[in-house]
Amino acid sequence: MKILVLNFGSSTAKSQLIDTDPELIARNNDRLLAKVTVDRMGTPYSVVNVQAPGKTPGKKRIKISKPIYKAEDAVQAITDAYLSYLPDELRGPEDIEGIGHRVVHGGERFQTSTIMTEEVVDDIEETVDLAPLHNPHNLKGYYAAKALLPHARHVAVFDTSFHQSMPPHAYLYGLPYLYYERYRIRRYGFHGTSHRYISYRYARIHGQTREAYKLITCHLGNGCSLCAVDQGRSIDTSMGFTPLEGLLMGTRCGDVDPMAVFYVLAHEEVDAQGLESLLNRMSGLYGVSGISSDMRILLEEMAKGSGRAKLAIDMFCYRARKYIGSYMAALNGCDAILFGGGIGENSPPVRQMICDGLKGLGVEIDAERNANAIGIEAQISTENSRTPVWVIPTNEELLIARDTLRCILGLPLP
Ligand code: ADP
Repeated sequence: MKILVLNFGSSTAKSQLIDTDPELIARNNDRLLAKVTVDRMGTPYSVVNVQAPGKTPGKKRIKISKPIYKAEDAVQAITDAYLSYLPDELRGPEDIEGIGHRVVHGGERFQTSTIMTEEVVDDIEETVDLAPLHNPHNLKGYYAAKALLPHARHVAVFDTSFHQSMPPHAYLYGLPYLYYERYRIRRYGFHGTSHRYISYRYARIHGQTREAYKLITCHLGNGCSLCAVDQGRSIDTSMGFTPLEGLLMGTRCGDVDPMAVFYVLAHEEVDAQGLESLLNRMSGLYGVSGISSDMRILLEEMAKGSGRAKLAIDMFCYRARKYIGSYMAALNGCDAILFGGGIGENSPPVRQMICDGLKGLGVEIDAERNANAIGIEAQISTENSRTPVWVIPTNEELLIARDTLRCILGLPLP
């Protein structure tokens, strides 16, 4: 079945067309047919980027510049691109049978991926308040796709739902309980599709089911989060009520004493909105280094002797290590530590720096294995390491496509 995976943001719409069915899933042989992204939506300078197989081996990359203002135009441009670059796979739009929508926040209502009935869409509308920066855009993508591809079945896959298995002692904050009852203020956690995929792949590689392991999954990208996965279920994760909490990230501060924020409010000319922007967009690696939020640039600057780049990287690694230690305690020991996300998959030095401080907990990195593991599934710990450490490149789109297929066919979701 051809599934279109849609990830609609404020100015970017990412998509992949994936061919999957139960047999392909069993063989881990689902096919990514092409990727289409619309960048700078809502401006006259929008660009449609297509990555499709060419007539010659390898992938063809095409850039089409045209103004795209509305979500409908973006979905139309995406569909047109698939139809024109995949003539052998798609005879018409009706060949796209399922659409998997990435939805950031599912609140407490959505414990799992689900077909988007009217009632489900109404419930997602009600969670907009919890994720005002993301859910409205996700929904715009849904309405546009529903209008343009009405024959297809639409499925919502939530970033939060994997973490709905957390117990109350992990998801509640030490605020008056009333605020949980009144406003549902609690830890939700995000990147759930990534943590779920990484833990699933580790088990599959070892010929087991996820239930066999206690795992710590580290999604380190622009946004970063860790997850403690006990027998396939998230029991704790570092992001909280919003994606701001937890690790130091590209531009987000992660954990901070809320009183420090009040102090800034009292002493700087900044209002609540400005503060929100400061914490989400001007902090983290960028705010500490004063140079960049991009780990590659910071590693280069550190090599050239920049003290602030080194400080930001040290803080990043220390915070990640501290969370790994606390999740070892939360899990009462763990069977493996897994790295994914842009930094986790591609940066041997960062993985090394995080794990160097874990020798006392039985973690030992093999320098050569680590250096060779770039964007591939590989063990990076020594044979003697008490806790194995692996790189597992994440693939959220694939999991969204598989969930979409399973929801459409009425198959159980693992
Ligand atoms: P997002 O969270 O937006 O999906 P990614 O998972 O793509 O982001 O991660 C982006 C981060 O990955 C950036 O900080 C980038 O510098 C980092 N990154 C990508 N490749 C490398 C690399 N080779 N070495 C170090 N960092 C890398």
